Amino acid sequence: MPPQVFVNGELIDKQDAKLSVYDHGLLYGDGVFEGIRVYGGRVFLLDEHIDRLYECARAIRLEIPMAKPDLTEAVESTVAANKLEDGYVRLVVTRGAGYLGLDIRKTSDPQIVIIADTITLYPEEHYRDGLSIITASTIRNHPGALSPRIKSLNYLNNILAKIEATDAGCQEALMLNHKGEVAECTGDNIFIVRRGVLKTPPTEAGILEGITRNAVIGLARDAELTVREVPLLRHDIYAADECFLTGTAAEVIPVVKLDGRQIGDGKPGPVTQDLRARFQRLTRGQDG
Ligand code: PMP
Repeated sequence: MPPQVFVNGELIDKQDAKLSVYDHGLLYGDGVFEGIRVYGGRVFLLDEHIDRLYECARAIRLEIPMAKPDLTEAVESTVAANKLEDGYVRLVVTRGAGYLGLDIRKTSDPQIVIIADTITLYPEEHYRDGLSIITASTIRNHPGALSPRIKSLNYLNNILAKIEATDAGCQEALMLNHKGEVAECTGDNIFIVRRGVLKTPPTEAGILEGITRNAVIGLARDAELTVREVPLLRHDIYAADECFLTGTAAEVIPVVKLDGRQIGDGKPGPVTQDLRARFQRLTRGQDG
């Protein structure tokens, strides 16, 4: 059986899953989405992803035409229909089809799509040796223009920074905010360790509040580490003992170089490795 895609309540063969070219998701990037992992057939932190999706939809005045419990079940049944053991779910809600103009009152029928597929992971050596990243010249969206807290279908800000990373031969790029502070990477949140304290930018720095970020903060507190959500400058990363990124796809991945400068001793640090191991136990269900 070909992969089954959920479109507005129905499971459809992948090649037949289609939306209108008048959909404002396509025309204007008007919609919201989630990327979610499946580990051992279980959808990881699904409630957190569903909550964030509804929050983001509310922020853009998009009413999801399905109740939370029904959408949660739809994700689970799409994963089951595709017999997915380990993979990735893309949950998308678009504004729906309208006319060629911005007025949301002239759109109808928000579209709900759930794709459950395999995932391309970072190569293993990046976890073993750590990533080298650069600072992008593209700054993160100003929160007063389009809040980075909204996981919207408009990802051009991140794509432009990702192009800079790729051009520099890197996997990720650090993005600063409009004040010059550290915000996040193009698809990952950032953490540093300095003198045993774990630090990460607060949501007010203009970041997406990552589900993985929040899970890792919880794991760090379980491990009795001091965690501080504080504004960071690039200086703090250069001077850090350790640095790592978190994200649904990347999980916990060490960073050993920023802009060609070595961080700490240039190897994935002990706190990073411990948190990565704890996160793996959590995803593989050995922690509850
Ligand atoms: N920041 C951005 C800009 C992202 O797109 C993502 C998700 N890919 C993250 C951070 C990490 O969020 P999460 O842990 O919820 O995947």
